[in-house]
Amino acid sequence: MSSYIDIKYLNIISPQLQKFKKKGNTLWNFRCPYCGDSQKNKTKARGFVYQKKNDLFFKCHNCDVGTTVGKLIEYLDSKTYKDYIMERYKTGSGGTKGTITPKPEFKFNAPVFRKKDIFKSLKSIAELDSDHPARKIVERRSLPKESLKDIYLCESFFKFTNTLIPNKFPSLDGDHPRLMIPFRNEEGEIFAYQGRAFGIETPKYITIKLKDEDKIFGLDRVTKDKHIYVVEGPLDSLFIDNCIAVGGADFNRPLSIDGSLISNEDLTVVFDNEPRNSEICKLIKKTIKSERKICLWPESMEYKDINDMILGGYTKEEIEEIIKENTYQTASATVRFAKWRKIND
Ligand SMILES: [Zn+2]
Repeated sequence: MSSYIDIKYLNIISPQLQKFKKKGNTLWNFRCPYCGDSQKNKTKARGFVYQKKNDLFFKCHNCDVGTTVGKLIEYLDSKTYKDYIMERYKTGSGGTKGTITPKPEFKFNAPVFRKKDIFKSLKSIAELDSDHPARKIVERRSLPKESLKDIYLCESFFKFTNTLIPNKFPSLDGDHPRLMIPFRNEEGEIFAYQGRAFGIETPKYITIKLKDEDKIFGLDRVTKDKHIYVVEGPLDSLFIDNCIAVGGADFNRPLSIDGSLISNEDLTVVFDNEPRNSEICKLIKKTIKSERKICLWPESMEYKDINDMILGGYTKEEIEEIIKENTYQTASATVRFAKWRKIND
Protein backbone atom coordinates (compact mmCIF):
# COMPACT_ATOMS: atom_id res chain seq x y z
CA MET A 1 0.00 0.00 0.00
CA SER A 2 1.54 3.25 -1.02
CA SER A 3 -1.31 5.54 -0.01
CA TYR A 4 -0.11 5.93 3.57
CA ILE A 5 3.21 7.31 2.29
CA ASP A 6 1.26 9.65 -0.02
CA ILE A 7 -0.81 10.82 2.96
CA LYS A 8 2.27 11.23 5.16
CA TYR A 9 4.03 13.40 2.59
CA LEU A 10 0.91 15.34 1.72
CA ASN A 11 0.79 16.33 5.40
CA ILE A 12 4.50 17.20 5.36
CA ILE A 13 4.04 19.66 2.47
CA SER A 14 0.62 20.88 3.62
CA PRO A 15 1.99 24.08 5.27
CA GLN A 16 2.89 25.14 1.73
CA LEU A 17 -0.72 24.76 0.61
CA GLN A 18 -3.08 27.63 1.33
CA LYS A 19 -6.40 26.86 2.99
CA PHE A 20 -5.37 23.22 3.33
CA LYS A 21 -8.25 21.23 4.83
CA LYS A 22 -9.05 17.57 5.31
CA LYS A 23 -12.53 17.14 3.91
CA GLY A 24 -13.06 13.44 4.28
CA ASN A 25 -11.28 10.19 4.98
CA THR A 26 -9.25 10.42 1.77
CA LEU A 27 -10.19 13.85 0.51
CA TRP A 28 -8.30 17.11 0.98
CA ASN A 29 -8.99 20.56 -0.37
CA PHE A 30 -6.77 23.65 -0.75
CA ARG A 31 -5.94 26.55 -3.06
CA CYS A 32 -4.39 25.22 -6.26
CA PRO A 33 -0.61 25.88 -6.33
CA TYR A 34 -0.53 25.59 -10.14
CA CYS A 35 -2.98 28.35 -11.09
CA GLY A 36 -3.10 30.11 -7.71
CA ASP A 37 -6.89 29.68 -7.78
CA SER A 38 -8.84 32.94 -7.90
CA GLN A 39 -6.72 36.05 -7.32
CA LYS A 40 -9.83 38.11 -6.70
CA ASN A 41 -11.39 35.75 -4.22
CA LYS A 42 -8.85 34.61 -1.64
CA THR A 43 -11.28 32.10 -0.13
CA LYS A 44 -11.61 30.07 -3.32
CA ALA A 45 -9.98 26.65 -2.99
CA ARG A 46 -10.48 24.36 -5.92
CA GLY A 47 -7.52 22.02 -5.61
CA PHE A 48 -8.40 18.53 -4.40
CA VAL A 49 -6.44 15.44 -3.46
CA TYR A 50 -8.44 12.24 -3.60
CA GLN A 51 -7.81 8.52 -3.56
CA LYS A 52 -8.10 6.27 -6.57
CA LYS A 53 -7.18 2.63 -5.95
CA ASN A 54 -4.01 2.75 -3.80
CA ASP A 55 -2.74 6.16 -4.82
CA LEU A 56 -3.61 9.76 -4.19
CA PHE A 57 -4.19 12.15 -7.05
CA PHE A 58 -4.44 15.89 -7.38
CA LYS A 59 -7.05 17.72 -9.43
CA CYS A 60 -7.85 21.40 -9.74
CA HIS A 61 -11.36 22.34 -10.72
CA ASN A 62 -10.24 25.78 -11.80
CA CYS A 63 -7.29 25.16 -14.16
CA ASP A 64 -7.93 21.44 -14.66
CA VAL A 65 -4.43 20.33 -13.81
CA GLY A 66 -4.60 16.69 -12.82
CA THR A 67 -1.59 14.77 -11.57
CA THR A 68 -0.29 12.40 -8.92
CA VAL A 69 0.43 13.50 -5.38
CA GLY A 70 4.09 12.63 -6.09
CA LYS A 71 4.21 15.16 -8.89
CA LEU A 72 2.47 17.73 -6.70
CA ILE A 73 5.14 17.21 -4.01
CA GLU A 74 7.89 17.51 -6.65
CA TYR A 75 6.36 20.74 -7.91
CA LEU A 76 6.26 22.25 -4.42
CA ASP A 77 9.45 21.00 -2.83
CA SER A 78 12.15 18.98 -4.57
CA LYS A 79 13.89 18.02 -1.34
CA THR A 80 10.77 16.56 0.22
CA TYR A 81 10.12 14.85 -3.09
CA LYS A 82 13.49 13.03 -2.86
CA ASP A 83 12.61 11.78 0.64
CA TYR A 84 9.23 10.69 -0.67
CA ILE A 85 10.77 8.74 -3.56
CA MET A 86 13.25 7.07 -1.19
CA GLU A 87 10.53 6.05 1.22
CA ARG A 88 8.40 4.63 -1.55
CA TYR A 89 11.47 2.79 -2.86
CA LYS A 90 12.32 1.35 0.53
CA THR A 91 8.84 0.02 1.12
CA GLY A 92 8.68 -1.29 -2.40
CA SER A 93 5.34 0.31 -2.97
CA GLY A 94 3.89 -0.39 -6.32
CA GLY A 95 4.80 -4.06 -5.93
CA THR A 96 2.92 -6.55 -3.80
CA LYS A 97 3.08 -6.33 -0.02
CA GLY A 98 6.49 -7.06 1.43
CA THR A 99 8.42 -7.34 -1.81
CA ILE A 100 11.18 -4.91 -2.63
CA THR A 101 11.04 -3.40 -6.09
CA PRO A 102 14.46 -3.90 -7.71
CA LYS A 103 14.92 -0.34 -8.85
CA PRO A 104 13.00 2.84 -8.16
CA GLU A 105 10.56 2.63 -10.97
CA PHE A 106 7.51 4.70 -10.37
CA LYS A 107 4.82 5.22 -12.85
CA PHE A 108 3.83 8.84 -12.59
CA ASN A 109 1.38 10.25 -15.01
CA ALA A 110 2.69 13.38 -16.64
CA PRO A 111 0.75 16.37 -15.37
CA VAL A 112 -2.24 16.77 -17.57
CA PHE A 113 -2.36 20.39 -18.47
CA ARG A 114 -5.46 21.29 -20.42
CA LYS A 115 -4.96 18.97 -23.38
CA LYS A 116 -6.42 20.09 -26.64
CA ASP A 117 -5.88 16.66 -28.23
CA ILE A 118 -8.25 16.39 -31.17
CA PHE A 119 -8.74 20.17 -31.04
CA LYS A 120 -5.00 20.84 -31.35
CA SER A 121 -5.38 22.40 -34.79
CA LEU A 122 -7.94 24.88 -33.46
CA LYS A 123 -7.26 28.12 -31.64
CA SER A 124 -8.96 28.70 -28.32
CA ILE A 125 -10.89 31.94 -27.96
CA ALA A 126 -8.35 33.01 -25.34
CA GLU A 127 -5.60 32.67 -27.97
CA LEU A 128 -7.32 34.97 -30.47
CA ASP A 129 -6.38 38.64 -30.76
CA SER A 130 -8.58 40.83 -28.62
CA ASP A 131 -10.12 42.45 -31.71
CA HIS A 132 -10.86 39.15 -33.46
CA PRO A 133 -14.58 39.12 -34.38
CA ALA A 134 -15.12 35.64 -32.91
CA ARG A 135 -13.53 36.69 -29.65
CA LYS A 136 -15.67 39.82 -29.57
CA ILE A 137 -18.86 37.80 -30.08
CA VAL A 138 -17.92 35.42 -27.26
CA GLU A 139 -16.83 38.21 -24.92
CA ARG A 140 -20.20 39.84 -25.36
CA ARG A 141 -21.66 36.80 -23.55
CA SER A 142 -19.53 37.73 -20.47
CA LEU A 143 -18.39 34.14 -19.96
CA PRO A 144 -15.92 33.54 -17.12
CA LYS A 145 -12.46 34.40 -18.43
CA GLU A 146 -10.89 30.99 -17.67
CA SER A 147 -13.50 29.27 -19.76
CA LEU A 148 -12.27 30.98 -22.94
CA LYS A 149 -9.23 28.71 -22.81
CA ASP A 150 -11.36 25.67 -23.53
CA ILE A 151 -13.74 27.07 -26.13
CA TYR A 152 -12.44 27.14 -29.67
CA LEU A 153 -12.91 28.70 -33.07
CA CYS A 154 -13.33 26.33 -36.00
CA GLU A 155 -13.10 28.12 -39.34
CA SER A 156 -14.65 25.29 -41.37
CA PHE A 157 -16.97 23.16 -39.28
CA PHE A 158 -17.86 20.58 -41.94
CA LYS A 159 -14.29 20.11 -43.13
CA PHE A 160 -12.95 19.79 -39.58
CA THR A 161 -15.62 17.29 -38.57
CA ASN A 162 -14.86 15.19 -41.64
CA THR A 163 -11.26 14.79 -40.42
CA LEU A 164 -12.65 13.06 -37.31
CA ILE A 165 -15.62 11.26 -38.87
CA PRO A 166 -14.89 10.68 -42.57
CA ASN A 167 -17.71 11.84 -44.80
CA LYS A 168 -19.90 13.10 -41.94
CA PHE A 169 -20.72 16.03 -44.22
CA PRO A 170 -20.57 14.59 -47.76
CA SER A 171 -20.71 18.07 -49.25
CA LEU A 172 -18.68 21.02 -48.05
CA ASP A 173 -21.13 23.45 -49.68
CA GLY A 174 -22.11 26.13 -47.23
CA ASP A 175 -19.31 25.26 -44.79
CA HIS A 176 -18.91 28.02 -42.18
CA PRO A 177 -17.13 28.86 -38.90
CA ARG A 178 -18.55 27.73 -35.57
CA LEU A 179 -17.76 28.14 -31.90
CA MET A 180 -16.54 24.77 -30.61
CA ILE A 181 -17.50 23.60 -27.14
CA PRO A 182 -15.75 20.34 -26.17
CA PHE A 183 -17.53 17.72 -24.04
CA ARG A 184 -14.82 16.04 -21.99
CA ASN A 185 -15.05 12.91 -19.90
CA GLU A 186 -13.68 12.75 -16.36
CA GLU A 187 -10.18 12.15 -17.72
CA GLY A 188 -10.38 15.26 -19.89
CA GLU A 189 -10.75 13.42 -23.19
CA ILE A 190 -13.12 14.95 -25.74
CA PHE A 191 -15.94 12.51 -26.55
CA ALA A 192 -18.33 14.96 -28.22
CA TYR A 193 -18.49 18.61 -29.17
CA GLN A 194 -21.06 21.24 -29.89
CA GLY A 195 -20.61 23.65 -32.77
CA ARG A 196 -22.53 26.84 -32.19
CA ALA A 197 -23.24 29.15 -35.11
CA PHE A 198 -21.91 32.68 -34.95
CA GLY A 199 -24.50 33.99 -37.35
CA ILE A 200 -27.88 32.93 -38.67
CA GLU A 201 -26.71 29.52 -39.92
CA THR A 202 -29.09 26.72 -39.01
CA PRO A 203 -29.26 24.71 -36.97
CA LYS A 204 -27.87 27.04 -34.34
CA TYR A 205 -26.29 24.09 -32.50
CA ILE A 206 -24.81 20.97 -34.06
CA THR A 207 -23.58 18.32 -31.65
CA ILE A 208 -21.13 15.73 -32.90
CA LYS A 209 -20.70 12.54 -30.88
CA LEU A 210 -17.36 10.77 -31.24
CA LYS A 211 -18.20 8.04 -28.76
CA ASP A 212 -21.43 6.50 -27.66
CA GLU A 213 -21.61 8.29 -24.33
CA ASP A 214 -24.30 10.46 -22.77
CA LYS A 215 -23.95 14.04 -23.95
CA ILE A 216 -23.10 15.55 -20.58
CA PHE A 217 -21.00 18.70 -20.60
CA GLY A 218 -18.63 19.48 -17.74
CA LEU A 219 -17.77 15.98 -16.44
CA ASP A 220 -14.11 17.04 -16.25
CA ARG A 221 -14.98 19.94 -13.95
CA VAL A 222 -17.43 18.53 -11.40
CA THR A 223 -16.78 16.75 -8.16
CA LYS A 224 -19.18 14.38 -6.45
CA ASP A 225 -18.02 15.81 -3.13
CA LYS A 226 -20.11 18.95 -3.58
CA HIS A 227 -23.74 19.53 -4.49
CA ILE A 228 -24.17 19.17 -8.27
CA TYR A 229 -26.25 21.48 -10.44
CA VAL A 230 -27.62 20.41 -13.79
CA VAL A 231 -28.59 23.01 -16.40
CA GLU A 232 -29.58 22.81 -20.04
CA GLY A 233 -26.93 24.86 -21.82
CA PRO A 234 -23.15 24.20 -21.70
CA LEU A 235 -22.35 27.92 -21.68
CA ASP A 236 -24.86 28.53 -18.85
CA SER A 237 -23.14 25.82 -16.80
CA LEU A 238 -19.87 27.76 -16.83
CA PHE A 239 -21.33 30.42 -14.53
CA ILE A 240 -22.35 28.10 -11.70
CA ASP A 241 -20.07 26.19 -9.35
CA ASN A 242 -19.99 22.41 -9.79
CA CYS A 243 -22.42 22.46 -12.66
CA ILE A 244 -22.95 20.20 -15.67
CA ALA A 245 -25.16 20.66 -18.73
CA VAL A 246 -27.34 18.06 -20.39
CA GLY A 247 -28.87 20.13 -23.16
CA GLY A 248 -31.39 18.24 -25.22
CA ALA A 249 -30.76 15.13 -23.19
CA ASP A 250 -32.93 13.25 -20.75
CA PHE A 251 -32.60 14.87 -17.32
CA ASN A 252 -34.03 11.87 -15.56
CA ARG A 253 -31.59 9.08 -16.06
CA PRO A 254 -29.19 8.17 -13.23
CA LEU A 255 -26.03 10.22 -13.09
CA SER A 256 -22.72 8.84 -11.94
CA ILE A 257 -19.55 10.83 -11.30
CA ASP A 258 -16.19 9.26 -10.43
CA GLY A 259 -17.90 5.89 -10.32
CA SER A 260 -20.51 6.92 -7.74
CA LEU A 261 -24.20 7.22 -8.38
CA ILE A 262 -25.37 10.73 -7.47
CA SER A 263 -28.41 10.63 -5.19
CA ASN A 264 -31.46 12.87 -5.56
CA GLU A 265 -30.37 14.79 -2.46
CA ASP A 266 -27.02 15.74 -3.99
CA LEU A 267 -28.29 17.19 -7.23
CA THR A 268 -30.53 20.06 -8.33
CA VAL A 269 -31.94 20.35 -11.83
CA VAL A 270 -32.18 23.93 -13.05
CA PHE A 271 -34.33 24.42 -16.13
CA ASP A 272 -34.44 27.54 -18.23
CA ASN A 273 -37.05 30.07 -17.14
CA GLU A 274 -39.56 29.34 -19.89
CA PRO A 275 -42.98 28.55 -18.38
CA ARG A 276 -44.63 28.87 -21.80
CA ASN A 277 -42.42 26.26 -23.41
CA SER A 278 -44.48 23.07 -23.37
CA GLU A 279 -41.45 20.86 -24.05
CA ILE A 280 -39.71 22.22 -20.97
CA CYS A 281 -42.88 21.87 -18.91
CA LYS A 282 -43.10 18.21 -19.90
CA LEU A 283 -39.50 17.65 -18.78
CA ILE A 284 -40.15 19.49 -15.51
CA LYS A 285 -43.12 17.23 -14.76
CA LYS A 286 -40.98 14.17 -15.37
CA THR A 287 -38.22 15.54 -13.16
CA ILE A 288 -40.64 16.24 -10.29
CA LYS A 289 -42.01 12.70 -10.63
CA SER A 290 -38.50 11.29 -10.39
CA GLU A 291 -38.22 13.04 -6.98
CA ARG A 292 -35.22 15.06 -7.96
CA LYS A 293 -34.70 18.55 -6.59
CA ILE A 294 -35.67 21.22 -9.05
CA CYS A 295 -35.27 24.98 -9.29
CA LEU A 296 -38.32 26.90 -10.49
CA TRP A 297 -37.44 30.54 -11.00
CA PRO A 298 -39.42 33.23 -9.11
CA GLU A 299 -41.97 35.36 -10.97
CA SER A 300 -39.72 38.39 -10.53
CA MET A 301 -37.09 36.77 -12.74
CA GLU A 302 -37.43 38.27 -16.19
CA TYR A 303 -34.56 36.48 -17.93
CA LYS A 304 -34.88 33.12 -19.60
CA ASP A 305 -31.48 31.56 -18.90
CA ILE A 306 -28.44 32.01 -16.69
CA ASN A 307 -26.32 33.72 -19.32
CA ASP A 308 -29.07 36.29 -19.88
CA MET A 309 -29.29 36.85 -16.11
CA ILE A 310 -25.55 37.58 -16.04
CA LEU A 311 -25.91 39.98 -18.96
CA GLY A 312 -28.88 41.53 -17.15
CA GLY A 313 -26.64 42.39 -14.21
CA TYR A 314 -27.08 39.49 -11.78
CA THR A 315 -23.85 38.22 -10.23
CA LYS A 316 -22.96 34.55 -10.12
CA GLU A 317 -23.42 34.58 -6.33
CA GLU A 318 -26.87 36.17 -6.62
CA ILE A 319 -27.94 33.55 -9.16
CA GLU A 320 -26.65 30.71 -6.98
CA GLU A 321 -28.59 32.18 -4.05
CA ILE A 322 -31.81 32.47 -6.11
CA ILE A 323 -31.41 28.85 -7.19
CA LYS A 324 -31.01 27.72 -3.57
CA GLU A 325 -34.02 29.72 -2.41
CA ASN A 326 -36.21 28.42 -5.21
CA THR A 327 -35.41 24.73 -5.05
CA TYR A 328 -38.35 22.38 -4.56
CA GLN A 329 -38.86 18.65 -4.35
CA THR A 330 -41.80 16.22 -4.63
CA ALA A 331 -45.01 17.74 -3.14
CA SER A 332 -43.67 21.28 -2.77
CA ALA A 333 -42.42 21.10 -6.35
CA THR A 334 -45.83 19.99 -7.65
CA VAL A 335 -47.56 22.93 -5.92
CA ARG A 336 -44.97 25.42 -7.05
CA PHE A 337 -44.99 24.12 -10.61
CA ALA A 338 -48.77 24.54 -10.90
CA LYS A 339 -48.46 28.15 -9.76
CA TRP A 340 -45.43 28.84 -11.95
CA ARG A 341 -47.37 27.72 -15.04
CA LYS A 342 -50.65 29.42 -14.15
CA ILE A 343 -49.13 32.80 -13.44
CA ASN A 344 -47.33 32.80 -16.70
CA ASP A 345 -50.21 31.54 -18.82
ZN1 LIG B 1 -5.56 25.25 -10.55
